[in-house]
Amino acid sequence: MKVRFWGVRGSIPVPGRATNRYGGNTSCVEVRPRGAAPIIIDAGTGIRRLGKSLMEEAFRDGKGTASILISHTHWDHVQGLPFFSPLYRAGNQVHIFARQRDMHLEAVFSQQHDAAYFPVPLSAMHADMQFHEVVEGARFDIGTAKVTCARLNHPWVAIAYRIDVDGASVVYCSDTAPFTDLLLGKDFIERPSFGTLPPPVRDELATMRAGVVALAKGADLLIYDTQFTPDEYTSRPHWGHSRPDDAIEIAREAKVKQLCLFHHAPLRSDDDNDAILARYREVTSGDKFSLVSAYEGLEIPLGDQ
Ligand SMILES: [Zn+2]
Ligand SMILES: [Zn+2]
Repeated sequence: MKVRFWGVRGSIPVPGRATNRYGGNTSCVEVRPRGAAPIIIDAGTGIRRLGKSLMEEAFRDGKGTASILISHTHWDHVQGLPFFSPLYRAGNQVHIFARQRDMHLEAVFSQQHDAAYFPVPLSAMHADMQFHEVVEGARFDIGTAKVTCARLNHPWVAIAYRIDVDGASVVYCSDTAPFTDLLLGKDFIERPSFGTLPPPVRDELATMRAGVVALAKGADLLIYDTQFTPDEYTSRPHWGHSRPDDAIEIAREAKVKQLCLFHHAPLRSDDDNDAILARYREVTSGDKFSLVSAYEGLEIPLGDQ
């Protein structure tokens, strides 16, 4: 398979001179199993250009099939979907997988096509769209690819995905806070405080962390939310994002082969990202895994090509 990054940014797109090299688009990663339809993870603004490139394939003639795994429905993970060209061509099949919520998934996605926000209603997009609600721990197949899910520690919950195909595995773990200080999910915490956690909360976080380590076990590539520096995390632990240090701990425990820093903060310039990568390459110089930082256009081949 090939893993290609189309959007690597968290929160909001940040085009401009300071972000040219890493790119300013929000989260979108394409996993392309050998000779098979694309599996796309997240539909941030990066999916627009991916859609244009897919329109040079079978999608142009309405004969394409794509699956989109959504980690969660915050803007930076879904905002590009209305601009995904294959959805406008009848005959294309697009399967959208996301976590079950109180409201049906199709209704959640329809809302961003409400007339106040976008002129074309979801129902007017001509492709055959199928919505699949997943729960944490779910396992399902997409063609020959095996997909596994785990829960992450994020306001209103996000899902991590593992894809095993072509004799290799990739794990996408964004967005998540560390599993030590706060339990996020059921509410927005306005005033976080660091302190001793009640045992049930500590246990729930430990279980969630163990689930993430198990999901990433032996993965060829672990893509991880590293939006924060340690200082930024200290002042915003309730935003639901990690530091490179957290990703490195998980990578060590899970014995992954490669770790990719991802979901870069919008205020991070290319030079900032270079410096973070250089610093953490030193930190991991004795580790068995290699460390990369995601940028738009980065392509990582894994397993059989
Ligand atoms: Zn995000
Ligand atoms: Zn989020």
